[in-house]
Amino acid sequence: MRERHNVVAGVDMGATHIRFCLQSISGNVLHCEKRRTAEVIADGVVAGIGALLTQQLYQFHAQCHGLVMGFPALVGKDKRTIISTPNLPLTASDVNGLAGKLEAALGCPVEFSRDVNLQLSWDVQVNGLQDREVLGAYLGTGMGFAIWLNGAPWTGAHGVAGELGHIPQGDRLLRCGCGNAGCLETVCSGLALTRWYEQQPRDYDIGDLFIHASDAPFTQALLEHAARAIATTINLFDPDAVMLGGGVMDMAAFPRDALIAATRAHLRRPLPHDAVRFIAASSSAFNGAQGAAALALKRFAPTVTL
Ligand SMILES: [Zn+2]
Repeated sequence: MRERHNVVAGVDMGATHIRFCLQSISGNVLHCEKRRTAEVIADGVVAGIGALLTQQLYQFHAQCHGLVMGFPALVGKDKRTIISTPNLPLTASDVNGLAGKLEAALGCPVEFSRDVNLQLSWDVQVNGLQDREVLGAYLGTGMGFAIWLNGAPWTGAHGVAGELGHIPQGDRLLRCGCGNAGCLETVCSGLALTRWYEQQPRDYDIGDLFIHASDAPFTQALLEHAARAIATTINLFDPDAVMLGGGVMDMAAFPRDALIAATRAHLRRPLPHDAVRFIAASSSAFNGAQGAAALALKRFAPTVTL
């Protein structure tokens, strides 16, 4: 008879793709997989995630001891309540009681997290910065941000700390997905970049935007907004290091050095200006899911009785 694997699972649910990773409780990553979000959740989140994980567990002859699932959303301090999901195609019935429904479907404990906290956990681990103070700025669909403090993501009094994308530093005439007017994400996000790109016909793909339009006033303004926001967080938190990543920063010809220079121009001197390090986040799309699986291992593996 085949050996049965004891595993934990990590899921990173994005607006476009869902990524899954299975990790054995001895720490090996067994499997990572990417699917389109709309296809997976066509019959509801519980049915979709349940079917996919069940199939993977069967394929790997594995028993799951815990799932951590990341969302681009506000997640409550209880790590079970999804509070707000402006960037996800989820309905209220998808979200209500989701943790309990998934636990019933999968037969293992389930915990939720904000996706950028999982990404930062992974980047901190990869760079050996667990004992340091680290900020993560992830410019993707939104302006993702996370704080690593005292050996864990710092989530504030209610679980929702670090919403840099929603500071009032945007276009007052534009309403953000969160419902407020003038959030940073209205002018500094992949969504804002897409909106600008689609304003008129362009003779290049959006993925090549920084090759063709780095000097455009909108792009320059976006970078300056990002620099001011990131510099503000550095002056507030005085971190050892700042991870820079996300889908927009991973685009071809993204002017990373110019962003760092513009950020540094706003830093308080001599400190944190002279000491803070900028580190490129590793750009594997599976970081969030692997970070989720690593967190699941930490949370649930100690309870496993073999
Ligand atoms: Zn907002």
